[in-house]
Amino acid sequence: MLTAEIIAIGSELLTPDRTDTNSLWLTEKLNSIGIEVKLKTIVGDDDARLEEAIRDALRRSSIVIMTGGLGPTEDDITRKIAARAMGRRLIFNEQVLEGIRAKFMSFGRSMPEINSRQAMIIEGAEVLQNPNGSAPGMYLEHDNRSVVLLPGPPREMKPMFENLVQPKLVAKAGDVRVVRRVLRVAGLGESAVDERIAPVYTQYKNPQTTILFNRSEIEIHLTAQGKTEKEAELLLDGLAGQIEERLGHSIFAFRGETMEEVVGLRLAVCGFTLAVAESCTGGLISQRLTEVPGSSVYFIEGVVTYSNEAKTRALGVDAELIERHGAVSAEVAEAMAEGVRHRAGTDFGLAVTGIAGPGGGTEEKPVGLVYIALSDDAHTEHRKLQLPGDRHLIRWRSSQAALDLLRRRLI
Ligand code: AMP
Ligand code: MG
Repeated sequence: MLTAEIIAIGSELLTPDRTDTNSLWLTEKLNSIGIEVKLKTIVGDDDARLEEAIRDALRRSSIVIMTGGLGPTEDDITRKIAARAMGRRLIFNEQVLEGIRAKFMSFGRSMPEINSRQAMIIEGAEVLQNPNGSAPGMYLEHDNRSVVLLPGPPREMKPMFENLVQPKLVAKAGDVRVVRRVLRVAGLGESAVDERIAPVYTQYKNPQTTILFNRSEIEIHLTAQGKTEKEAELLLDGLAGQIEERLGHSIFAFRGETMEEVVGLRLAVCGFTLAVAESCTGGLISQRLTEVPGSSVYFIEGVVTYSNEAKTRALGVDAELIERHGAVSAEVAEAMAEGVRHRAGTDFGLAVTGIAGPGGGTEEKPVGLVYIALSDDAHTEHRKLQLPGDRHLIRWRSSQAALDLLRRRLI
């Protein structure tokens, strides 16, 4: 497999002001055509550091892609330094200059003199036209390496890569296709997941398996290589099937879908409606559900009842029940689910009440204690959770557990 590395150039990319997104986008593109990205570097606008970075990259990687620093100003040094690192001259290209001049003319402006720098092309490089900006890119073969210079602005970089660079790299990479799939798990811990599926996935080098923690859920990333996309997909089907045998319904998504998408789709397919009553999640569940396009078909109403009085007034939760068991209790969670279901006239009522912290916990009811409840025509059930994490995580994990309770009911 060919290996590539990426150098993102620009001092702003080292600060919190700007994030280097180009390399992430490029890595995905390269992976998909069977080229592995082993390393990336972010370099400020510094001659010596950049020259070092480019020399290092050329030593170890068969494909080196640089982005940024092709602008017309003094701090845009990529052209100059890349040429120096490769021991090549910069050659003025009349045609490129005319192209830049014409672009300015088309906006009714004359070209500022400094833009003529952008017509300096590395000796032996192919010019990559930039229909979305003034800086042309470059492509060259140097010492058996492919070297690519791309502009920094993503809207210039992306089409240039897709249209002019990718076809060349596909030809170099040969018949390798890489396909990825993300499986998502709810209701199981990381080690529990690994214990069950490690015996399966460790048998395979292809597909490759990575397990990641992502907030409250676990993601299993599968990456397969094949001569064709079809072949790689079949390998993924095989392993995903074996993983499913071990994890069953704890896998809620096989193609990277979110929990709210999965729940929404099931509600829509079955023709069911839902109302949600939230205390500690403050509307997060409703927000997540309504993020999904088309959710108005099944999501009828969301009520945020933070105070005891609001639980009584809006959901009809008996004040005495709250008095007796406390607002954070199984009884109140169930009464909230029933209350919101009656209020909205829906098939399902889903409710959450809990202590997100950091204050408000007691020995009996510590921070992270959360009750979720689900009510339908036939019955009402609840789950008691003791969630780890800070306020943000407890709220998010509560929303995930509540949605998962509904998902499992819908299976
Ligand atoms: P430059 O090509 O260095 O003149 O970059 C112009 C602009 O492109 C910068 O101000 C950034 O907004 C953007 N840019 C440059 N490099 C990147 C990168 N690696 N990821 C995302 N945006 C970038
Ligand atoms: Mg720059």
